[in-house]
Amino acid sequence: MPHTVTLIPGDGVGPELAAAARHVIDASGAKIVWEVQDAGFAVMEKEGTPLPDRVLDSIRRNKVALKGPITTPRGGGFRSVNVALRKALDLYACLRPCKHYPGVRTRFENVDLVVVRENTEDLYAGVEFEPGTPEAKQVIALAGGRIRDDAAISIKPISAFGSERIVDFAFRYAVENGRRKVTAVAKDNIMKATDGLFYRAAREVAKRYEGKAARALPAVAVAGGDLAIEYDEWLVDAMCMQLVQKPELYDVLVMPNLYGDILSDLCAGLVGGLGVAPGANIGEEVAVFEAIHGSAPKYTGMNKVNPTALILSGVLMLRHLGEKEAADRVERAVASVIAEGKHVTYDMKPDRTDATAVGTKEMAEAVVARM
Ligand code: NAD
Repeated sequence: MPHTVTLIPGDGVGPELAAAARHVIDASGAKIVWEVQDAGFAVMEKEGTPLPDRVLDSIRRNKVALKGPITTPRGGGFRSVNVALRKALDLYACLRPCKHYPGVRTRFENVDLVVVRENTEDLYAGVEFEPGTPEAKQVIALAGGRIRDDAAISIKPISAFGSERIVDFAFRYAVENGRRKVTAVAKDNIMKATDGLFYRAAREVAKRYEGKAARALPAVAVAGGDLAIEYDEWLVDAMCMQLVQKPELYDVLVMPNLYGDILSDLCAGLVGGLGVAPGANIGEEVAVFEAIHGSAPKYTGMNKVNPTALILSGVLMLRHLGEKEAADRVERAVASVIAEGKHVTYDMKPDRTDATAVGTKEMAEAVVARM
């Protein structure tokens, strides 16, 4: 049975990257019917909104989308389409695997981390009060002398529901993808209410998974039985130091929104940066797969930037659709092209001005040829 998938090319370098990723996925053996839906800057000019209902309807109907980056105008203009999509579809889990592929120049090898970031709560809830407003004054009065009168205030809500849901997502991901450990990251020594609640919810979920083996591990049957998934906790500051010293000790990291935003960039940096970092935003019903990077406007239409991150987001999508063999085939081909280092974009060459660098389209074609 073919899968119908919504394809949002996006703007900036989005359309050329989406074409490259589509070309590779079409050659993977998986049968995908693409429903192309434009969104972003040009759509705003034509339809009066950068995210028309037809786009959301298409994603809700198909349940899966692959999305190119979309520009958010700075200082005025429309609000982020990317954030609006996550909110409208309640895509509560942000999944960012950070895996090192030999051939990518990094300071670390053998890194294979997965950051699971809560996507809806925390300081991103958008509950903010400018200094001097009646709301700010009310909160300051409530705080009984602990906040200065001229303070601006951002509220950090962390719910039991949201925490339980994201940690359960992390454990389910670990079970289904053969991972060995889930680490909860927050800072409850200081934020005893919010981060304390997060850890309590995480421990409850961890108890439910006690003794559960990771399903996809080929050799889980070790002496004495299956290999259960470990659970541990780190404070976010100590975690940062751990990650830049011994990232190979960690596996799946789960955390509230803000820590997740920061640590996922840190982890992407460990494995070679934006050009190779895939991602997904996942809800109960719907999942949208996209690279971490943005629309790199200065390179628009130049057939220059690296398609790897969006192709690897396509690999995550194929796994999500149950197309494991097609996903493995694409991932192996990408790894092989990168390891050879010949048909790769400028950012993967030792010198960025290297004249042997190929374009977006040519790198995708090399991946297809390798399959
Ligand atoms: P960006 O990720 O677009 O680009 C920053 C720099 O990273 C680029 O100039 C380029 O040098 C490099 N880069 C990015 N992607 C690359 C690739 N595939 N290959 C090689 N190099 C690559 O970040 P920005 O400049 O801060 O943002 C540009 C626009 O994208 C903004 O409007 C921003 O809001 C938007 N954005 C969208 C998303 C999304 O759609 N999810 C995510 C981040 C930023």
